Amino acid sequence: MSTIAIDNTRCDRSPGCPSRRVCPQGAIVPVEGGHYPGAHGYRVIEDRCTGCGICARVCAGGAVSIG
Ligand code: SF4
Repeated sequence: MSTIAIDNTRCDRSPGCPSRRVCPQGAIVPVEGGHYPGAHGYRVIEDRCTGCGICARVCAGGAVSIG
């Protein structure tokens, strides 16, 4: 199965992360901490992820990749 990687050095740290919003599994969640959700970027809960790849297509910064 495909695996998703999020490069938080490329993430714009938006609280409205489009990749998170489109994930049908709710598999993308904010990294804990910070002043608002997403302030430290995002991570993938691998047990929820089906590898569909939708998230990688909508990240404007190219921070989400599928391998
Ligand atoms: S590949 Fe699909 S299921 Fe996995 S995190 Fe991305 S949108 Fe969610």
